[in-house]
Amino acid sequence: MQFISTRGGMQPLPYCDTLLEGLATDGGLAVPEQLPQVSAEVLESWRELTYPQLATEVLGLYATDIARDDLERMCQAAYSNENFPTEGVVPLRPIDGGLTLVGLSEGPTLAFKDMAMQFLGQVLEYALAQRGSVLNVLGATSGDTGSAAEYALRGKDRISVFMLSPQGRMSAFQRAQMYSLTDDNVFNIAVDGVFDDCQTLVKNLAGDLDFKKTHHLGAVNSINLARITAQSVYYFWAWLRATDAVDTASRAGFEVSFTVPSGNFGNILSGYFAKNMGLPVRRLVLAANENNVLDEFFRTGIYRPRAAEQTLATSSPSMDISKASNLERFIYDLVDRDPARVVQAWRDLDEQGYFDFSSQQSRFADEFGIVSGTSTHADRLATIQAVYEASGEIIDPHTADGVTVARHHVESGVPMLVLETAKPEKFQETITEAIGVTVSLSEELQAMLEAPQHVVDMNNDEQALRGFIEQHAATL
Ligand SMILES: *Cc1c(COP(=O)(O)O)cnc(C)c1O
Repeated sequence: MQFISTRGGMQPLPYCDTLLEGLATDGGLAVPEQLPQVSAEVLESWRELTYPQLATEVLGLYATDIARDDLERMCQAAYSNENFPTEGVVPLRPIDGGLTLVGLSEGPTLAFKDMAMQFLGQVLEYALAQRGSVLNVLGATSGDTGSAAEYALRGKDRISVFMLSPQGRMSAFQRAQMYSLTDDNVFNIAVDGVFDDCQTLVKNLAGDLDFKKTHHLGAVNSINLARITAQSVYYFWAWLRATDAVDTASRAGFEVSFTVPSGNFGNILSGYFAKNMGLPVRRLVLAANENNVLDEFFRTGIYRPRAAEQTLATSSPSMDISKASNLERFIYDLVDRDPARVVQAWRDLDEQGYFDFSSQQSRFADEFGIVSGTSTHADRLATIQAVYEASGEIIDPHTADGVTVARHHVESGVPMLVLETAKPEKFQETITEAIGVTVSLSEELQAMLEAPQHVVDMNNDEQALRGFIEQHAATL
């Protein structure tokens, strides 16, 4: 299996090389030359597998350059009991209205990013050891991504993490989650500025190619191929669990729908890959919050990213995006995998502020299975309350966006699975606003909140950051 760029300018590369590259050399995103196919018989033969075994099967179709034993060991380590203490790793729970939650937030940071990041940590360590190389991950975070990266990369050989966060702008829970880590290879840097300042610092350093090369800088952001492929696994898992109760004769081709709380279009893209690999999926329902550039695109065919200052700070903050970095992988299919038309779309966007596929809009649902909707703060609160009253379950604000939008897309005879992308413990304020209850914290979480914190305060100063990395970076 080889990977190519959506913009056509990259030599085909195998899996491990692709994920070390990050962005393709021509500025495009890596996609498989062809999606691997899973027949109904093969799918059925996976029914008795544990989650790590299933991950080995699905990821083995992409990572053909990794020896099977190594891949199996990495999947066992990524999806261990220690990382995901809940039975089965990804539990399914029915709630009211015929919906089922798919529990993707049982990992160390209580959000779905652990699902992909834990695997990425394993495969990075493996690929670096094979090449005798090192990696210094430089990132900016306003919450979930940074902590998932740190928990996946802590203690890994040949890897250090430099994570910038805006001073005083994260919740107490988010700060504690990141800053309580004591591993020597994790560096939390609190910048005197806002999230955009952190991101600008990262961009400037990563854009300095000499500095980047000398210090082996890299990223683990949402366009990373290992993350996209690892996320496909739970769509297969959820389908298998949702069809356990269907009689054997009716299982082949039995369709389910998924609703996905979305931001950068990473999670739902993984579902789209799973569908195109042969998983019987009827609809992929994209749920957006008030920052609904993607809902707008799927309803109208017009994609108009917003400026940072037009991006609202909402109560489902991990979906607060101005542009969706993975959308290019879908556009590539939409233009029948013609790199010239992908480049043209981006040129249109640069010149006029949007690109226009309104003539193709009817294909989104019919051919690709994707529909969408928007949920607001009021919807979120009402849904958290309704689910709590009807099912006794407390859901987090992002999952609530999913449930809100899912309810508009339920079809009779088609199970609707809603991805639970975070746990409510992380978003106490909104939960209290919705139902007047505080979510009780486990002893471990309580201890985490009270633990000493390790963070370096820094001015919004590129020279200071360069100096810090020069001093602490992992070296050959
Ligand atoms: C990252 C995140 C999302 C959005 O996922 P994308 O892959 O960016 O679409 C949704 N919910 C939570 C809790 C997240 O952390």
